[in-house]
Amino acid sequence: MKKLVTMFMLAALAAVSTKALAAAPADTLAEIKKKKVLVAGVKDSLPPFGYIDEKTRTIVGYDIDFVNAIAARLGARVELKPVTSASRMPQLQEGNIDIIAATMTKNPERAKQIDFSHTYFFTGQKFITKKGTVKSLKDLEGKKIGTAKGSTSEQNVKKAIPSATVLSFDDYPQAFLALQQGKVQAVTTDEAILAGILSKAPNKEQFEIPSLQISDEPYGLGMRKGDKNFVDFVNKTILEMEKSGEAKKIFEKWFGPGTPFHLQRTFKITADK
Ligand code: GLU
Repeated sequence: MKKLVTMFMLAALAAVSTKALAAAPADTLAEIKKKKVLVAGVKDSLPPFGYIDEKTRTIVGYDIDFVNAIAARLGARVELKPVTSASRMPQLQEGNIDIIAATMTKNPERAKQIDFSHTYFFTGQKFITKKGTVKSLKDLEGKKIGTAKGSTSEQNVKKAIPSATVLSFDDYPQAFLALQQGKVQAVTTDEAILAGILSKAPNKEQFEIPSLQISDEPYGLGMRKGDKNFVDFVNKTILEMEKSGEAKKIFEKWFGPGTPFHLQRTFKITADK
């Protein structure tokens, strides 16, 4: 009986995974050209990468502008689907989205499951804390730290401060709410995300981002493993955008002077990263 149940479960599992595979086109580039739609998985609550613009009620941001530029070259319209850090890879693999443009760090572990474009943004992992409470990583030992499920931030902080209790939320705004309510002593993720969250906080003067960096986080656009034509096209496009100045313009629009961030662009999009 037990064997039968196991066999049944295995068959069910096989059916599910076959269905998942069937839904994902083998040649996404050809499919986008045919359907004239590019479906992108994006964040919808992380300014300035992907968030809902109050006036237009549409999702806008740095990640969205890259998707728009890629779609424009394909004569396709863009459909944006909100994803979380944990859901973005399964959504891509199941064929529900064509590309991930969602503050996603490329690393060797993830690259076993999906393919990444060249690096199109570069940041590093830090913390938001109540002002004056944290000067070194030692101050966070044994403390509660909020972050997002399925992120590199979650993995890195566990390694950097093993004695901390890591509370993982669906996304970073929830973790920041926990910090405001005193349920955690810090929130950790990429500095550019933390700066975005802080810029929108009504009581931002109570918080700070201490200069404690625990990792480098290069962002890549995620595509299905082996989807070579699409990966090549996306890479070609973002290299062209670098050459023409379009990529720099997008950076300046979201991070340059005139934004709350005033970030320097310390990276270039190149074929070797
Ligand atoms: N860039 C990190 C990651 O990909 C943190 C931000 C996020 O969770 O999206 O996991």
